[in-house]
Amino acid sequence: MEVIVHRGTRQIGGCVTEVRTAATRIILDFGSDLPPEPGALGPEPLRVEGVNCGQPRCDAVLFSHYHGDHVGRIHEVLPEIPLFMGPLAQRILLALKKRLGSEGVSALERACTFQPLKPLPIGEITITPIPTDHSAFDAYMFLLEAGGKRILHTGDFRFHGFRGRGAERLIQRYVGRVDLLITEGTLLKGSGEAPITEYHVQAEIAELIRRFKYVFVLCSSTNIDRLALLHNNTPRGRYFVCDSYQREIFDLVKDVSRSGYYQFSRAWVYGQNLDLEKQGFVMPVRKHPFFKGIMDQYAANPQSWLVYSMWKGYLDGRDPELEDLIRPFAERGKVAYVHSSGHAVLEDIRKLVEWTSPALVLPIHTEFPQGLAGIGAELVSLRDGEVLDLRS
Ligand SMILES: [Zn+2]
Ligand SMILES: [Zn+2]
Repeated sequence: MEVIVHRGTRQIGGCVTEVRTAATRIILDFGSDLPPEPGALGPEPLRVEGVNCGQPRCDAVLFSHYHGDHVGRIHEVLPEIPLFMGPLAQRILLALKKRLGSEGVSALERACTFQPLKPLPIGEITITPIPTDHSAFDAYMFLLEAGGKRILHTGDFRFHGFRGRGAERLIQRYVGRVDLLITEGTLLKGSGEAPITEYHVQAEIAELIRRFKYVFVLCSSTNIDRLALLHNNTPRGRYFVCDSYQREIFDLVKDVSRSGYYQFSRAWVYGQNLDLEKQGFVMPVRKHPFFKGIMDQYAANPQSWLVYSMWKGYLDGRDPELEDLIRPFAERGKVAYVHSSGHAVLEDIRKLVEWTSPALVLPIHTEFPQGLAGIGAELVSLRDGEVLDLRS
């Protein structure tokens, strides 16, 4: 097998990785670049011959999860090329794109779905999707096997979330030893401080809900684990209230998940004749005039509080509309920043290396690949577009 990282050896997001044999060509993820920092120029659009330009020459594009930096350019993939993703990921992303009216609806509608842990043969390569914990629901690692070689592509993952506990058993049973580990390294440039975990987020949010009657939480509508945490920590007698789009996402999750943790049975839709003033509420909110209208009414209320539960980088001048939304709370010193990353800390990657004993490790989705030096396997230093030949 050969591997080419078209984008991602020196940047976070915009991931596109190719794995091929003489007869089969697979692309893993086809994502958008993250928004550039203020004042910075965006990168050149990525052209991959046979995938999004020229004559189609690719057997399949597989998507690890529904975040835009992995799936955002799906609409560019030539229509003759089969697309694959997780079943719930497809439904959630379709609901999101329809709401936003964004590109990619028809591509998503034609996408096929794979089943967790069920090997999917495509030409000479067999791909097994391994479910993983991440801030996107229905996220996968991919095990790729061909010609006696085995590769594990992690996508984005973490082991420090609620669903990280079963990872060791799953990896040992369904993956085992690999020749090459292609791992995300988003947090490698971190401060070295211990990461904030979902358990910490839960404790802080539960405390804020106890102290304040009207709690708004700014978080992604598709960060299902965070939303389940909010819902399940809302005390009886207090409303957990959202908009109809968010309720639709909950219904999709509920239909598929057998876990009681993801049932969202007490999620009310705003406007259902609820006495919010009297009972109090926990309300997940997003950047939208609808929510701004409600939040502005409560900003001055001494019993209200805003929890900002997303990546703090969005507040670095990239998104004036978002800053407008939180300003009435920020000016009054009523914002708590409570978030944990969906990404792997160094310790998570170390565990994965231990469980899979790779001969080679290739970091992607990172600005600091050398952060994996000394990880216990040979580190591959690759540039975007360079070929790594696993036979040599
Ligand atoms: Zn990502
Ligand atoms: Zn992601």
